[in-house]
Amino acid sequence: NDLANMMDVPVTSVIATCMNLGVMVAINQRLDAETINIVADEFGFKTKFVSADVIEAITEEEDDPSDLQPRPPIVTVMGHVDHGKTSLLDSIRNTNVIEGEAGGITQHIGAYNVKLPDGRKITFLDTPGHEAFTAMRARGAKMTDVAIIIVAADDNVMPQTIEAINHAGAAGVPIVFAINKIDKPGANPEKIKERLAEMNYLVEDWGGKYQSQEISAKKGIGINELLEKVLLEADLLDLKANPNRKASGSIVESSLDKGRGYVATVMVQNGTLRQGDVLLAGTYYGRVKAMFNERNQKITEAGPSEPALVLGLNGAPQAGDTFNVMDSDQEARNIAARREQLQREQSLRTQKMLTLDDIGRRIAIGNFQQLNIIVKGDVDGSVEALSDSLIRLSTEEIQVNVIHKAVGQISESDVTLAAASDAVIIGFQVRPSLGARREAEKQGVDIRLYSIIYDAIEEVKAAMEGMLSPEI
Ligand code: GDP
Repeated sequence: NDLANMMDVPVTSVIATCMNLGVMVAINQRLDAETINIVADEFGFKTKFVSADVIEAITEEEDDPSDLQPRPPIVTVMGHVDHGKTSLLDSIRNTNVIEGEAGGITQHIGAYNVKLPDGRKITFLDTPGHEAFTAMRARGAKMTDVAIIIVAADDNVMPQTIEAINHAGAAGVPIVFAINKIDKPGANPEKIKERLAEMNYLVEDWGGKYQSQEISAKKGIGINELLEKVLLEADLLDLKANPNRKASGSIVESSLDKGRGYVATVMVQNGTLRQGDVLLAGTYYGRVKAMFNERNQKITEAGPSEPALVLGLNGAPQAGDTFNVMDSDQEARNIAARREQLQREQSLRTQKMLTLDDIGRRIAIGNFQQLNIIVKGDVDGSVEALSDSLIRLSTEEIQVNVIHKAVGQISESDVTLAAASDAVIIGFQVRPSLGARREAEKQGVDIRLYSIIYDAIEEVKAAMEGMLSPEI
């Protein structure tokens, strides 16, 4: 019913389409992801699935503009491997330690804050590469305000550089180029700018709009100038937040610490997080027992754009999960439980599918009642004959269902359907398409090919008797 409403088509059409796929559904039945994909596709729609915590999102009240105050930018460094991301982050970390803070940053918590000589602040996400950036973005977290794309001047614009540029572009995040390793004898920054120009990324000193800075992360050359340019970019964004409200933001990373239990680095994006607050993060919750900064100092609060290591959650949320501060334990627990339920349902649908061998094993230990099969064949007659014979293998304990049968090669949508319904695909005198084979591998769907009907029946029968010898 929901799906029909979303597509604005009669619900009966959706049910009919499901039936054509061999899926018998009632009007209020929850469909699995793959069936939704296929049905939507039939009606000319593309699907996009959002994670459980987006479905069960907490909608925070909008801030009154008069309550907003400037906040520091959150910056991510991305680039090709070995071009100097780590060195740059280390260099910034070590040279920009808040005055009077002896010892500097002592622990890696996935993010840190630096204060420039003029008092302005920048927050760096210290996560490795754009995989993290993309993963977070896929989870709906928009944590980065400005991206530094680092390119080694003794190398070239590399595939990962281009990927990083595209990821930043897709996220609508402004870019500052850092052309690194200029201390090296073979360095040729102009070549890098030329390559960028060829890609339509014209840097400022070539008359374009993209800021770039030549740096040496190793020797500490050009770092302050780079940060100035980042701040210039950030100024254009007019970044603001309201520190005087309950905190919300995103998870940067989390882990289970032997001594301290679950620890999570949170990035506060609005409001102020305080010790004692009830935190809801993804599918977990808990009261904030203690908070630390990247200098391993105990803190009692963290405001907008400030990262903090938090103790007290009852599990490790995923990077990119959103967090909110709730009014009560009870409320946090309820929402966490609902999200977990949703997530479990989703993962059930994507977990590894059964192979005929597994089915044999499970039947042998007596916990299997249904065997779902998809039959594809070269001609209608054999498809019908094979399907009938397979259904007739049903016993009192095990029901054989042919959930879909058709003439033609085994397609990707056959595989998705099999994956969605724990089915095995049997091909008679037909082969899977390349796409279907790839998808089957990815989803762990068992495709069995036969050229003799008798063989197909015998093997399924053997599986049902829990006697099938594993495929070699
Ligand atoms: P990442 O893979 O992007 O994190 O790159 P790293 O920061 O680990 O740097 C890769 C290598 O390049 C290391 O051996 C660094 O010491 C070296 N490197 C990084 N920046 C510079 C630089 O400015 N000058 C020179 N000469 N070497 C650098």
